[in-house]
Amino acid sequence: MTTELPYDFIAIGLGPFNLGLACLAEPLGSRSLFLDRKAEFSWHPGMLLDGTTLQNPFLADLVSMADPTSRFSYLNYCKQQGRLYNYYIRENWYLSRQEFDRYCKWAAAQLDNLRYQHEVQEVWYDASLPGYVLAGVRGDTGEGFQYSCRKLVIGIGGVPHIPACCSPGDARQAVHTSAYLGSKKALQRCRSITVIGSGQSGAEVFQDLLEQAPQHGYQLNWVTRAPRFFQMENAKLTLELITPDYGRYFYGLGDGVKQQILDDQRSIYNGINQSLIERIYQTLDERQQQGLAGVRLLPNLALQQCRRDAAGGQWQLEFQHAQTGARYGHATDGLVFATGYRYQLPSFIEGIRQRIRWDAQGRYAPSPNWAVDHQDSEIYVQNVGLHSHGLTNPDLGLACWRNGRLLNELTGRDAYPCEARTTYQDFQPPADCGFVALGQGSASA
Ligand SMILES: Cc1cc2nc3c(=O)[nH]c(=O)nc-3n(C[C@H](O)[C@H](O)[C@H](O)COP(=O)(O)OP(=O)(O)OC[C@H]3O[C@@H](n4cnc5c(N)ncnc54)[C@H](O)[C@@H]3O)c2cc1C
Repeated sequence: MTTELPYDFIAIGLGPFNLGLACLAEPLGSRSLFLDRKAEFSWHPGMLLDGTTLQNPFLADLVSMADPTSRFSYLNYCKQQGRLYNYYIRENWYLSRQEFDRYCKWAAAQLDNLRYQHEVQEVWYDASLPGYVLAGVRGDTGEGFQYSCRKLVIGIGGVPHIPACCSPGDARQAVHTSAYLGSKKALQRCRSITVIGSGQSGAEVFQDLLEQAPQHGYQLNWVTRAPRFFQMENAKLTLELITPDYGRYFYGLGDGVKQQILDDQRSIYNGINQSLIERIYQTLDERQQQGLAGVRLLPNLALQQCRRDAAGGQWQLEFQHAQTGARYGHATDGLVFATGYRYQLPSFIEGIRQRIRWDAQGRYAPSPNWAVDHQDSEIYVQNVGLHSHGLTNPDLGLACWRNGRLLNELTGRDAYPCEARTTYQDFQPPADCGFVALGQGSASA
């Protein structure tokens, strides 16, 4: 049990977003603490596959977009590792995911206010402080802990999503991509493997299994309900949608139109990167020339039913074709869900539910600066505002922008002001540009 003076702020969760916050907070001298239930920093360890890279250039490190002179920058990491010339000559802007994980571990090791093995289980408001009390049990010692703070930042990421048609009991036996590396050996002993989902993670797992299929001899299926295996858009003028300017514009739109836009933007934040599609195609081509059968790619198939035979036998799946309506049954030994992550309200939120602003759908209703409490000044959230802040929300490249704004709120110091303008395009005509406002039309016009 710990009793100390209230911290200025405590952040729950230590993924890249809160780790970046810790790095940028360090020179500001505020009293802060960062708690995570894990034993150490690790970034999606089940998906640290060889050859996979970040989707963002290395400037999307923990600090550079807010403060390129920070000692926590990726370039300083290279310098400290004696690798700067190697990186310079390599001329590759895209870090491998393993490299990003090592870099984050290096940054984390330099901070003395991170506490691992600290799972936050309860949070409540104590008017006598005034502030918040966080309590939980340490994973390593089993001891209880308690800390208090004036402000809170919740950055706990998402939880692996398994389609609802899979019963909770079966879901526990299913392999989600988040646990892929740990399950890979067992999967590769199967005679057939089916991967469901065609985002970047699904594509990475499919490629990994495809490359190694000849050594193991399994039949491999890749199934998606999407109408095609689509490529992540990365044209320059489209990438301007992942900027502070676009984030501010999106925030100001009506809720109905926001959802339409997000559906339309799926190929910006949800597709497969071009180089991976090329690698997959090349491997498929090589396999065909080697006369190797046993690989099937099936778009348009939406999973309707999913159950595992008794005694851990085969998976029995049922799909419906999204365009013809035909139904199909399929039995497979191995199954991988590449079905993404969902935000789940943590149980500790119950103790502060009344202090939080919710939208009509029971989601947080964040302010422009990601405050979710009624005063807009005490409880902040990271990476849960897709519905409010749009596709800028989960992107590593915008973490520094959000963390700069959060630190302004948390410390009262605008230590990391953002550039006045971050795009060439205007998402609505500004005053004095020759496009004269004639009145308010309907959003769908
Ligand atoms: C495989 C993969 C690759 C990705 N690659 C990219 C990419 O290249 N570019 C990009 O922009 N985005 C990428 N993303 C999306 C996004 O950037 C990452 O998901 C990122 O890790 C999100 O960071 P986070 O800090 O929100 O959450 P997380 O990284 O999920 O971290 C949350 C942390 O909170 C902790 N926690 C949860 N509950 C509690 C609790 N009660 N008490 C204490 N601790 C708790 C967890 O242990 C965890 O460490 C990727 C996502 C995945 C899954």
